[in-house]
Amino acid sequence: AYNEKESLFIALNFAREFFQQNLGTEEGQSIGLSYFKERGFTPAIIEKFQLGYALDSWDRLLVQAKKSGFETGILLNAGLILERENNPGNYYDRFRGRVVFPIHNLSGKPIAFGARILTQDKKQPKYINSPETAIYHKSDVLYGIFQAKQAIRQEDNCYLVEGYTDVISMHLSGIENVAASSGTSLTESQIKLIKRFTDNVTVLYDGDAAGIQASLRGVDLLLEGGLNVKTVVFPDGEDPDSFARKKGSADFRRFIQTQAKDFIQFKIDFFTRDAANDPIKRAEAIRQVVGSIARIPDPITRSVYARESARLLSMEEDLLLAELNRQLLKTH
Ligand code: ATP
Ligand code: MN
Ligand code: MN
Ligand code: MN
Repeated sequence: AYNEKESLFIALNFAREFFQQNLGTEEGQSIGLSYFKERGFTPAIIEKFQLGYALDSWDRLLVQAKKSGFETGILLNAGLILERENNPGNYYDRFRGRVVFPIHNLSGKPIAFGARILTQDKKQPKYINSPETAIYHKSDVLYGIFQAKQAIRQEDNCYLVEGYTDVISMHLSGIENVAASSGTSLTESQIKLIKRFTDNVTVLYDGDAAGIQASLRGVDLLLEGGLNVKTVVFPDGEDPDSFARKKGSADFRRFIQTQAKDFIQFKIDFFTRDAANDPIKRAEAIRQVVGSIARIPDPITRSVYARESARLLSMEEDLLLAELNRQLLKTH
């Protein structure tokens, strides 16, 4: 019987191979491969993540896929081609003149692509992604999980980053237990995915305002999911990729090991950043920390963190517990 999903998998795998082969062409070498080299990507890492290149052409993938027997409808449903708005029945490649990052499912099959522009063209988005399809639900996927799952189990920890290149740079630095939420806010199903392999997450989001806001939200969601959460804050403007390249592997590994703080310290630091002795900010920090603790589903873990945060905030535990109970009543 005809199986739509199966044919999408086959089309995606065809495209993955096509993009990989393009890296070997003259255009692919001079543009795609040299871009990867500039970023410090080795041939081995390019192979490991099956990175590729989409030629700067309107229809090279489309033509090649049709030659290989793929129907237009499948390529369309796979998100590989688009229909021309002013010329119905005419199609063109979605990914053109970009380096390509295949997104794999847990068993290593490509289910989508992210593609990065090579120039600083402000009129075009930096990354283009596959649309939602029958086999790709963005909110269920973490980039790099296939390449990371064994290491996550082994290390009993998952580093969570924002971007494709953060995942790859960390592998180059010798850290393989890493996955990316790909710039969107974390979802419940992504958290469940992590929980299949570990109960411990270290959030390594970009060191900019957006990254810190995303960390604050992500931490609460992870706590709600029953995970133990640590956070590393990078210097402003750095992300794990840029910082790893700046520092070198050994220093980078040392940095994240020594800078990883539990979520309480992270929140205290953030909410008291401007005035540690400002009583109003201090009160707000306390409420914020308690707000996160209130999300922890397990009462024993909750009380351990309540005690710990009372100590860190040098306040009476009873007072903190009273606020915790107030917030618990409000949320449950
Ligand atoms: P690079 O180092 O190549 O500039 P990055 O990963 O640091 O990439 P960010 O701007 O920090 O890029 O974005 C983090 C992630 O968010 C990206 O890796 C990508 O998954 C996603 N993303 C960023 N911009 C877009 C976009 N315009 N459309 C879709 N996804 C995007
Ligand atoms: Mn960013
Ligand atoms: Mn980034
Ligand atoms: Mn980056």
